[in-house]
Amino acid sequence: MNKIVVVGAVAGGATVASQIRRLDQESEIVVFEKDRDMSFANCALPYYLGNVVDARDKVLEATPESFYESKHIVVKPYHEVTSINDSKNTITVYDRVHETTFEAQYDTLILSPGCSANALNLDSPIAFTLRNMEDTDAIESFIEKNQVKNALVIGTGYIGLEILDNLYERGITPTLIHRSTHINKLMDQDMNQAIIDEMDKRNIAYRFNEQVSKVIGNEVHFESGKVEHYDLIIEGVGVKPNSEFIKNSNVTLDDKGYVPVNDQFQTNISNIYALGDIITSHYRHVNLSAHVPLAWGAHRGASVIAEQLAGDRTIHFKGYLGSNIVKFFDYTFASVGVSPQELKHFDYSMVEANQGEHAGYYPGNTKLHLRVYFDKTNRRIIRAAAVGKKGADKRIDVLSMAMMHQLTIDELVEFEVAYAPPYSRPKDIINMIGYKARNK
Ligand SMILES: Cc1cc2nc3c(=O)[nH]c(=O)nc-3n(C[C@H](O)[C@H](O)[C@H](O)COP(=O)(O)OP(=O)(O)OC[C@H]3O[C@@H](n4cnc5c(N)ncnc54)[C@H](O)[C@@H]3O)c2cc1C
Repeated sequence: MNKIVVVGAVAGGATVASQIRRLDQESEIVVFEKDRDMSFANCALPYYLGNVVDARDKVLEATPESFYESKHIVVKPYHEVTSINDSKNTITVYDRVHETTFEAQYDTLILSPGCSANALNLDSPIAFTLRNMEDTDAIESFIEKNQVKNALVIGTGYIGLEILDNLYERGITPTLIHRSTHINKLMDQDMNQAIIDEMDKRNIAYRFNEQVSKVIGNEVHFESGKVEHYDLIIEGVGVKPNSEFIKNSNVTLDDKGYVPVNDQFQTNISNIYALGDIITSHYRHVNLSAHVPLAWGAHRGASVIAEQLAGDRTIHFKGYLGSNIVKFFDYTFASVGVSPQELKHFDYSMVEANQGEHAGYYPGNTKLHLRVYFDKTNRRIIRAAAVGKKGADKRIDVLSMAMMHQLTIDELVEFEVAYAPPYSRPKDIINMIGYKARNK
């Protein structure tokens, strides 16, 4: 019988296993997960801590028992894959509960080990990172047990921003620090002003170019010389690939430890696939490599791998567009396309509009700032970014679809908007970008 082994049982791993089972009732599928839980909703964790998602079982989507019952897939929690022997088609697995090691054979191996949160090694019981349900449970019980009143959030990536927003909504007073002034880095820096404004409006303290030097009890010492007291510290300082166990195999890793894959999600070894945050691939709309560690890619990878193994082999991955979005209090920050740092690879121009999101006379109108970058050599859209209280998500999704089809900036005048006063204008902000581009 064909044996498929999956490493990692969360977004990519659990999804690829169930997608394969949908198409293939015969193969044996075994999933090894080094930690306690499978198939939890990572993206829900900040909202669960903010009590916005009100029940733990809404976050934990499956258990090994329920998965086996419904899909006949074996999931082994607390089983860490420690090495791959690709010449023998085996992996070495460490059973963390029984402290034993064994070899497992595979015909096809699928890697979805994701990333781990970077930690600042503050060596403090009040400092936490947030990556999985175990971290979340630890933070939740710490908050309850210690009646946490204030928290220091380190880092301004999307996890830091979401945590800050959610702690505040829960009634905990947050303070934000970041080691530079380069915040929320997927967004154009001059479009981040609303982050500052939203904190000012709520009297939330923040400091940039600031770092923690040491923590003694609840006393936090900063490199600026300040000393402050906090009940809780959450570090959102980036991630690193979980690829230690791959290093001794013949699977190629790039210089940062990520796994390059082809359009079928195969690594350089044809019966070893990889997906999710661990991979690097390429953009769909431009000829550049891309690393997009977000949930859509894990789900798309799962579907394509399942098709490769058990379905229609003509289905392959056409690349990322890099769509991303984050809510920060009343504002939404969203972008799609190459990152601001990658624009340097293009001879580009930019068009922007900053106007009412819907008809001016209709109540609740708010400003939406939309910016679109295009390649001057072929006028195709390469990046878009939007910030506003309403409508940023819709515009970025529309532009993602436009970029998927390689539309030019000029074709945006033809976008036919679904218009009524509460939703947009007869000439939508996307049309406005197209009209403005005529002069560029
Ligand atoms: C707090 C938080 C919020 C997020 N919010 C969003 C969001 O709003 N939108 C979005 O698009 N994305 C979001 N993400 C990112 C998204 O969750 C990831 O892109 C996605 O989970 C990646 O899937 P994956 O399978 O690669 O990794 P994961 O889902 O992290 O799963 C990897 C699993 O592999 C296990 N593993 C690692 N090494 C081994 C080993 N050697 N042996 C066995 N098991 C191993 C790990 O323990 C882990 O459980 C968020 C992530 C976090 C942490």
